[in-house]
Amino acid sequence: MKIKNKFYIETMGCQMNKLDSDLVIAQLSDDGFDRIENPDDAGVIIFNTCSVRQHAEDKVLTKVNQFKKRYQQHRDVIIAIIGCMAQRMGQQLLDENPQVAVVCGPGQLHELSDLIQNAVASLEDEHQKLAPQSEGRRKKKANPQRIVSLNNPEQQELMEQLDSTRTHRDFDHPFMAYVRVMKGCNNFCHYCIVPYVRGREYYRPIENIVDECKRLADDGIKEIILLGQAVNSYKYIEKGKTLNLADVIERVNEIDSVQRIRFVTSYPRDFDYRIFEMMAAMPKVCSYLHMPAQTGSGKMLKAMNRHYTIGRYDEIIEKAREIVPDIAIAGDFIAGYCGETEQDQQQTLDLIKRVRYKNIFAFFYSPRPGTKAYDKFEDNVPMEIKKRRLKEILDLQNEIAAEYNQNFIGKTVEVLVEGPSKKTKQNETADSNHIQLTGRTQGDHIVVFDGTKEMIGTLKNIKIEKTTSLTLFG
Ligand code: SF4
Repeated sequence: MKIKNKFYIETMGCQMNKLDSDLVIAQLSDDGFDRIENPDDAGVIIFNTCSVRQHAEDKVLTKVNQFKKRYQQHRDVIIAIIGCMAQRMGQQLLDENPQVAVVCGPGQLHELSDLIQNAVASLEDEHQKLAPQSEGRRKKKANPQRIVSLNNPEQQELMEQLDSTRTHRDFDHPFMAYVRVMKGCNNFCHYCIVPYVRGREYYRPIENIVDECKRLADDGIKEIILLGQAVNSYKYIEKGKTLNLADVIERVNEIDSVQRIRFVTSYPRDFDYRIFEMMAAMPKVCSYLHMPAQTGSGKMLKAMNRHYTIGRYDEIIEKAREIVPDIAIAGDFIAGYCGETEQDQQQTLDLIKRVRYKNIFAFFYSPRPGTKAYDKFEDNVPMEIKKRRLKEILDLQNEIAAEYNQNFIGKTVEVLVEGPSKKTKQNETADSNHIQLTGRTQGDHIVVFDGTKEMIGTLKNIKIEKTTSLTLFG
């Protein structure tokens, strides 16, 4: 029996995972696999996973379980788990889920295609009742012991090759591409699993980043999103001079066909204010800052091992608004971290009111095995209180966002047109040219408007007529 060379990939979690999925899609497509949207027709099913919350991991296991019967009855599918959960759980995933054939962490991604092809060959051998796989093949099997070695230079070199040589194949965002400037994180916030599953900070050579952006731009990419867990920590020594994120932005800005540059996620420390000056002076640099606060309480910041104060956070926001008055600011918050009191919660609400975020990403605290908070602190805020505090945070932000968005009514905004809106995708007839489209502003606002297919992939000025807390309509 031949295993179908069609793969389905599902991506959970942060932009780093989305970028990894882009690299996997490119790698597998180069090796003769076709990406499809229906897992039931795929011979290879890949879950790119997130370990930041227990709920995210549980969801993956439920999905993996849905294919158990198919695997047991037909043996016609290779299931691969990649990403942070693969890194965190390794062998345990293979032991507890017989339908899973490949477990591959972020540091081993360059080997994924080989691992999958090996698993396919092995399953096909099994169908033909051939002898067990040859020694050569067995050696290439996913080996969780190798999963942990994220920090050695050899591994980084291989990963660098994967990033540097990719071809652009993101069907979901044909005009936008994530480009990694660094990997890993050195901050070790007590609640966070990332430094353990993604390793310590490694900064890519600036010339590789710029070359990658050039190639993507030649391939039709209009917007580059520079990516790092703490992207403003980037540093790279070139000819004896230490370069930082501002230097990367400056060089990418020189690429003619790049029309927009964005960067995420910023850590509220060591912020080079040159970046805000660039936003103000360089039209391609988006007036957008995603800078997680996590809490508005100084006491909680210390308990989380965040290496800054609320005063410092406020100072960066103030500076940003002074230099770039229309900057859109996004933030992240955790509700109900260990030891959080009602007073701490009030300070968080106060911060949200002060900053007036464009949007936030907020979740209740979920203890993660392997982190300091899990080992040392009691998860002592009851679930109903965590949920209530999260709701307070989200309700407040919704109100702010609705008011904030109303300010756009009557204004004209520049939109990068991404494609048909959800409504058009559901109703589209093959020959319709006048359709509802969707795109994004520099400040990452989603804009829905009527237009024609020719507008897709271009920058257009759209006049806003009405708004909700999530969307602008023009
Ligand atoms: S800065 Fe903190 S929260 Fe962000 S990835 Fe690093 S350790 Fe995790």
